[in-house]
Amino acid sequence: MRTTESLSELRTIRASMQGILGLIPTMGALHAGHLSLVRRACSECRHVGASIFVNPTQFSKGEDFGKYPRAVQKDLELLESLGVDVVYIPAADSMYPPGYQTWIDVEALSTPLEGKFRPGHFRGVATVVAKLLNSFTPDKAYFGQKDAQQAAVLKRMVRDLNFPVDIIICPTVREPDGLAMSSRNVYLNPAERQAATVLYGALSAAKSRYDSGERDADVLRDTMQSVLDAEPMARAQYISAADPETLGELKTINQGVLLSLAVCIGETRLIDNFLI
Ligand code: AMP
Repeated sequence: MRTTESLSELRTIRASMQGILGLIPTMGALHAGHLSLVRRACSECRHVGASIFVNPTQFSKGEDFGKYPRAVQKDLELLESLGVDVVYIPAADSMYPPGYQTWIDVEALSTPLEGKFRPGHFRGVATVVAKLLNSFTPDKAYFGQKDAQQAAVLKRMVRDLNFPVDIIICPTVREPDGLAMSSRNVYLNPAERQAATVLYGALSAAKSRYDSGERDADVLRDTMQSVLDAEPMARAQYISAADPETLGELKTINQGVLLSLAVCIGETRLIDNFLI
């Protein structure tokens, strides 16, 4: 496995590859969710690249950029053990050198849900992913359903800007009790970790209503709300039953629905979703 901080070295490595390249962009502190993307890429592509970059521009003021977990050595061991060919670890000032001023804004899809609580987040995500796609020129890029709005934003971006890449969305990997794996789960103390299962509980309760035939989106939102209300440590930021493509809130569910929520447990903000 080759590891580089240099864009020109990455380009040289890329030029020597023949056959399909799959890319997994990450912020590191890898867990089984990330590794499921890597395994999928390894099974579908001749070459696999990953990036590790804690992207400052996708953190809003007051968020956890400074304390975001970093574990590069362990990440590299994991990536190597899975057969990754190349890992790009750019420095922040090479991604955003002085004078940097170009941004990608996927307008309407970036506004609701996460966008309301994390202004500028998707502008940072879309911009860094565009830069990584231009740096690796992969044939396929792998992302997790865990970040459903990010998936919608990035699919729209590659369509709108004609990036020649397939965006592949992989299922959310969960702990045995249902908590979606996240690098931020390490922030939870034992009591909070227990309380954090309420996100999965709320989504599961809404899905059971859906499975028994309920198609009124208000009922599904209320179902999630009442499960969250029963957990004193949980403070919901949003509870949504939206169209999976437009992310607009639904009244009646005719085709698919994206059930999603953002909940603070203590100081830790968690998100999760079910795509039905
Ligand atoms: P991050 O390092 O948080 O930027 O995540 C890198 C990629 O891993 C993103 O495409 C995430 O959606 C994906 N990811 C994060 N957590 C999970 C999970 N629990 N299951 C599947 N994919 C995940």
